[in-house]
Amino acid sequence: MFKIVLFIPIFFSPLLMGADVTTLLEKHKGGAWSVTYSTVEPIKKLTFKRNPDNSRVKRWQPQNSEFVIKYDEDNGLESVTKLDGKGFTEVKIWLTSTYTPLPKEYASFSPFSDNGFLFHSGRFFACADICVPELNKWPFEVKAQDKNIIVGGEVYSREANWIDKDSGQKVYIGNGIPIKDTHFVSLIDTKLPKELKKHISNDLPKLMNFFTNKMGALNYRPALFASYSETINGSYGNQGGTLPGQIFMHWYGKKSIEQLNSDSVFWFFAHEVAHLYQRKASEIESQSEAWLHEGVAEYLAGIATSDLRNNKSLFVKKVNIAKKRCFNGLENKSSYSEAAKLNPKLHYSCGLLLINAIDRNLTANNENFDIFRAWNKFNTQVESGEAAAVRTFLNVIKPYISDELSRSINLLSGTDEIDTIEVLKKIAANK
Ligand SMILES: [Zn+2]
Repeated sequence: MFKIVLFIPIFFSPLLMGADVTTLLEKHKGGAWSVTYSTVEPIKKLTFKRNPDNSRVKRWQPQNSEFVIKYDEDNGLESVTKLDGKGFTEVKIWLTSTYTPLPKEYASFSPFSDNGFLFHSGRFFACADICVPELNKWPFEVKAQDKNIIVGGEVYSREANWIDKDSGQKVYIGNGIPIKDTHFVSLIDTKLPKELKKHISNDLPKLMNFFTNKMGALNYRPALFASYSETINGSYGNQGGTLPGQIFMHWYGKKSIEQLNSDSVFWFFAHEVAHLYQRKASEIESQSEAWLHEGVAEYLAGIATSDLRNNKSLFVKKVNIAKKRCFNGLENKSSYSEAAKLNPKLHYSCGLLLINAIDRNLTANNENFDIFRAWNKFNTQVESGEAAAVRTFLNVIKPYISDELSRSINLLSGTDEIDTIEVLKKIAANK
């Protein structure tokens, strides 16, 4: 395929400009981590692509004190410059590689207890000057002493390089040995408490079979990474996530294990596995529409819990909690997307309410069309080039739901000022 950019002078092409930055991530002997950015032409500023907060300022340390990492309050971007403002072609930065949760973002490092690590490549994407949305090509190189580096399902030793894209991916570096079975290529922390290992080996295959029955088999074997790290400051919790083809879970702190509740572990797994089966359509383009894939993942976790664990009451309880949280979060807000920008957790609670209402409407009006079918149809459209967006999903379900419901959903995802709670109440009442 010919590329039109060939006719554009290089200095006008943002695509080429950003691609000039090469990223080298190194795990040194003794365990220290560094990232080195280099460019062919001198640049004055290096700005990061993904900026959930200002934690690079606190946790990253340029090797040379002539450099500084700054957080710009106005645009929320973190960048690296030289103190004297002069140009540079290389900067090396030392990293803190402990686990730290980032708001609405994948953690940079999930340590395994045997000194292995899972890192998120997207955390390191950086551009000369500023990142433009068109740029989606990130030359990446990794060097380590460890036996295994797992990138995109392939296992390398000591070094690897690739061109990354989109939201990036989780990359494993360590001496752990991946296990291939029918469902996953997995890397499970050897120190993961046995209760959790049991959940992983019992619950996950059940969930994979359940979703395969409902939504069709995946045409690849996803990677599963599960890690555990102790904490020194008493913090604890767990975080999971999916990126295309990968599912990952991290537990940190002793309390996260002491307080394990098998129902919530199951729900947590089901939510993440549901994302895998959402396939390409799970990559919803606009953050303000995240209620769609998060709401469906919550809802499908509810269905899986009811079916596979014979526990319908947890589902009912979750919907009631979601109702409270969603309505509280929308109080005095005339726009759902504005409210969710302030409180992204609303995508889970309001999303669950919305999808619960949608599925009830679908199944009440149609014998053979439910949320599983709706999502599959939506995904087929996304795979064939339609936007992964609420408007595409609505077009799919419109013939199967009441006009009233489709009007309310339109109102909620539109830009008009509305009484959000009133609209959601109406939706929840399934009118
Ligand atoms: Zn999710």
